[in-house]
Amino acid sequence: MLKIKDLTQYLDKVVPATYMESYDNVGLLVGSPTAELTGVMVSLDMTEAVIEEAVAEGCNLIVAHHPIIFKGLKRLTGSNYVERTVMLALEKGVRLYAAHTNLDNQHTGVNRVIADRLGLESPTILAPKSQTLQKLITYIPQEATDSVMEAIHQEGAGQIGNYSHCSFRVVGQGAFQAEEGAQPTVGAVGNLEKVTEDRVEVMFPMHLQGKVVAALKKAHPYEEVAYYIHSTENVNQEIGAGMIGTLPEAMEGTAFLDYLKERMDLTALRHTPMPQQPIKKVAVCGGAGSFLIKAARRAGADAYVTADVKYHEFFDAEDQMMIADIGHYESEVYTKELLKNIIRENFPNIAVRLSKVVTNPLRYY
Ligand SMILES: [Zn+2]
Repeated sequence: MLKIKDLTQYLDKVVPATYMESYDNVGLLVGSPTAELTGVMVSLDMTEAVIEEAVAEGCNLIVAHHPIIFKGLKRLTGSNYVERTVMLALEKGVRLYAAHTNLDNQHTGVNRVIADRLGLESPTILAPKSQTLQKLITYIPQEATDSVMEAIHQEGAGQIGNYSHCSFRVVGQGAFQAEEGAQPTVGAVGNLEKVTEDRVEVMFPMHLQGKVVAALKKAHPYEEVAYYIHSTENVNQEIGAGMIGTLPEAMEGTAFLDYLKERMDLTALRHTPMPQQPIKKVAVCGGAGSFLIKAARRAGADAYVTADVKYHEFFDAEDQMMIADIGHYESEVYTKELLKNIIRENFPNIAVRLSKVVTNPLRYY
């Protein structure tokens, strides 16, 4: 029988907490992971209504985009909606799991969903993150290099864009002396050994470090493996905030707004004046995306589609592009389907239900 943790550990791997923003709170937030999983409900928010819905549908796990515990809880007395939601979840035995900015920052995440709905071609990350790529340097006796490298590549190291098995090697001489208690693969205790070895360098994304090092140690023939891991300043094109791509055909401003409303199922939106030029290049960021206005402008976007933009922030469009604020809920509601697909990919037989509760606290009049 499937346990809650089978699913949550899988999600931890696919949407690693390593890539969340520093202020965020992701992963399993409420409840023990050891119980049997009865069903999963996917929602945008965790609210009391969603928990009641999950119970009614026989689901004891809610996977949501927004974490209900965000700032830190000092008491559980039911005095506000956060405390009441957590208390109800505990009372009903419903576990709460969040995939938030760690999902936003994936190139297959929330922003990709918006980009795809708008039909953007060749979407790329608008603000790729640095310091998420690492370099492994290790030394391998020559006859074992290929097999050790294969084991490391199997764990995802050495992937650069559409190229796999990327590494660099140079031949040199390794030296070591086995001391008492050692069981050297090469040479004998007390002898200074000199062995022809390959020095190998390979890059990997930081969330794979544990697996890559484990694979190295398992495949390497030596009792003690010499290796170094360096953090790099390199930009990771696959991790970061927002996305930018191009519409199949340029559109006039009003036509673009109509298209946006239709594709994102909007009743209303707020926008800055239309730019002079037709709209072709479009940047997107689901949720609160003001922090990327300048990046969108610098990247040459004709329009930037996001939410939660404040009055003064709209001025940052500088008449060079149009900012369209489509609403936080509206920009992220399709995240439910994204989460459902992620779960279904590995657990095709599990019952995954999309919450029907409209958690949007806003109404338009
Ligand atoms: Zn959000």
